[in-house]
Amino acid sequence: MIKRSAPRGKGRAPSRKTQDEAKVHEAAAELPMAVPAESEGLPAPVGDASAFAALGLLPELVSAVSAAGYTAPTPIQTEAIPLCLRGRDVMGLAQTGTGKTAAFTLPIIHRLHAGPRRTRALILTPTRELCQQVEGSFRKYGQFSGLDVIPVFGGVSYEPQEQALRNGVDVIVATPGRLIDHMEKRNVALDELEILVLDEADRMLDMGFAPQINRIVSGISPYRQTLLFSATMPPEVEALARKYLRRPIVVQVGRRSQAAHTVRHAVYPVPGSRKTALLVSLLSSHAMESTLVFTRTKHGADRVVRALHEAGVEATAMHADKTQAQRNAALEAFRRGDIKVLVATDIAQRGLDISGISHVINYDVPGQAEDYIHRIGRTGRAAQSGDAFTFMAPDEIAMVRTIERVLGQPIERISIPGFDFGTSG
Ligand code: AMP
Repeated sequence: MIKRSAPRGKGRAPSRKTQDEAKVHEAAAELPMAVPAESEGLPAPVGDASAFAALGLLPELVSAVSAAGYTAPTPIQTEAIPLCLRGRDVMGLAQTGTGKTAAFTLPIIHRLHAGPRRTRALILTPTRELCQQVEGSFRKYGQFSGLDVIPVFGGVSYEPQEQALRNGVDVIVATPGRLIDHMEKRNVALDELEILVLDEADRMLDMGFAPQINRIVSGISPYRQTLLFSATMPPEVEALARKYLRRPIVVQVGRRSQAAHTVRHAVYPVPGSRKTALLVSLLSSHAMESTLVFTRTKHGADRVVRALHEAGVEATAMHADKTQAQRNAALEAFRRGDIKVLVATDIAQRGLDISGISHVINYDVPGQAEDYIHRIGRTGRAAQSGDAFTFMAPDEIAMVRTIERVLGQPIERISIPGFDFGTSG
């Protein structure tokens, strides 16, 4: 059983706060400085995969990331991997696109490989897509390890999962609801779990998974390592961290609300009734290789897809009403490049791992600034550049202003004659 290493001497004495509050307070106070790699005596990254070796990872893992084409760890990887390898609890504040998945899958494979055969790691994710993405990372990096990884999510038949779980697995990547079904049927034993990861914790709570998370974690040994990743840190996530993490080290990438800096943002003022026409016009006039369009609602997504079809543009919708098979088929077609336009709602987009997205288009302005950041996190991933365009109807001007306030910068307006409703926003 992995035991946590002794707490480091960075803690501050609790004052008026309770012990529990102080833990997170202590962690929060470390936010800006989150253990730079140099302070661990590691050499600075040198620009090839050997920088991964310098983080302490097994040679097989270094080869795997090298084969994946990575030449240097991303900042969250540089910070989090050595801590994870040492068994520390880590709270990673990082949005999708920062390389956070590898930041926890690599050290988990390192720690589990060649160990005893039983379920030793559990990764909880909010969506099926993210579940599959995380499972894919384990497979991609961990082929050599012989670790058995199984994705467990709803919307697909139960029996194959049951069979696989009963045969025994090393790592489970699961959405909370389906995992509880399996726990109730005693298909899975988590009492000897060593590592728990709560991935995209903010989104899991947004989706109402708090009771399920509590239920699952209550059955897991307290002598575990817990890693929590979240793009944002609202009080609910802080409370979750306070409850389940022990003296976590907080690792933060960029400012909490920072959008990927490789993304060029632009706002197009346009009346709601002209949005589809503007979309068709942009798709035909720009070199839009792979475009992710976001709508607020499922019906909106279907409507946009129908309108694009009428205009002769291949597109497909991705939302909660689609079956898993339909989602997989849509993703595959998009990945292969057969379909250039994927129209998604916010929930559906969270777990999408599609590299090389050239454009993100906010057909509707997202109601939450955080959603804007998540959405545009789909392009410009891991230092590729991309464009993020937002269509702004007159009744959405205030929402754009809020997003600009959170971003801390204005977004460029692009006025297209014939579409602009005549305001600079
Ligand atoms: P994530 O933030 O985990 O969703 O990862 C975003 C994308 O970055 C994924 O497609 C990864 O394959 C890719 N990625 C992860 N780590 C690196 C790295 N060190 N260098 C280049 N790409 C990476």
